[in-house]
Amino acid sequence: MARKLIAAGNWKMNTTIDEGITLAQRVSSADRNKNVLTILAVPFTHLFPVMKKVKISSGVKLAAQNCHHKTSGAFTGEISPAMLAGMKIPYVVIGHSERREYNHEDNALLALKVRAALDAGLKVIFCCGEALDIRKSRGHVAHVKNQLTDSLFMLSASEMKNIVIAYEPIWAIGTGETATPAQAQEMHLAIREMLRKKYGKRVADNTSILYGGSVKGSNAAELFGQPDVDGGLVGGASLSADEFVTIINSFGRKAV
Ligand code: PEP
Repeated sequence: MARKLIAAGNWKMNTTIDEGITLAQRVSSADRNKNVLTILAVPFTHLFPVMKKVKISSGVKLAAQNCHHKTSGAFTGEISPAMLAGMKIPYVVIGHSERREYNHEDNALLALKVRAALDAGLKVIFCCGEALDIRKSRGHVAHVKNQLTDSLFMLSASEMKNIVIAYEPIWAIGTGETATPAQAQEMHLAIREMLRKKYGKRVADNTSILYGGSVKGSNAAELFGQPDVDGGLVGGASLSADEFVTIINSFGRKAV
């Protein structure tokens, strides 16, 4: 099994339903590199309508941006993994830094969410990454290692097939500041080494590790050209169909 090349758009809390459908249709009907798995992480309200409008044959997959850690219950306003799985949504993003910050989601809660999502049959895009002060004090690799150890490494090797890791340095998210390709590669290689130590070469080689943090049409090719960068989780730039399609078409290599 080769690891997938992935361009995932995280729309966050953006677009009305009409705007969202138009955006998804423009991405799905565009001339795209078919070796690249395209994922759209859309607001909950958009999942079903976008799924109905976007042609299955386009190969575009949908993701939710979050889910609860329980299957059902008295949790007003929440969405369970079982609800997403029941709608045939294949992916869910877990651990985005905005949810860690604004919703106080810690590593222990994220472990429960990952467990619940996999048990429901979803695939997880798991986000990790350090704040600027941690990078400045050179604690970034240890920080990411803690995040992965606490929230992911309770999984079995076979469950890791359903995990995509997104490394997103917080100082680069929505700031216009991007990690240099060398900084991204350094961390992606470190993550792959963590996977190798924990699960062995096969899991390490087969897990897609995405970079996120101000990826744009103008910097995607260089970032995706790094040997351990298997694609991107893209926020702002995924709200423009043209820009996002440029990003999808920025891969210079085939899946390895
Ligand atoms: C994100 O939301 O995951 C992200 C990386 O945002 P942006 O591309 O806007 O920095």
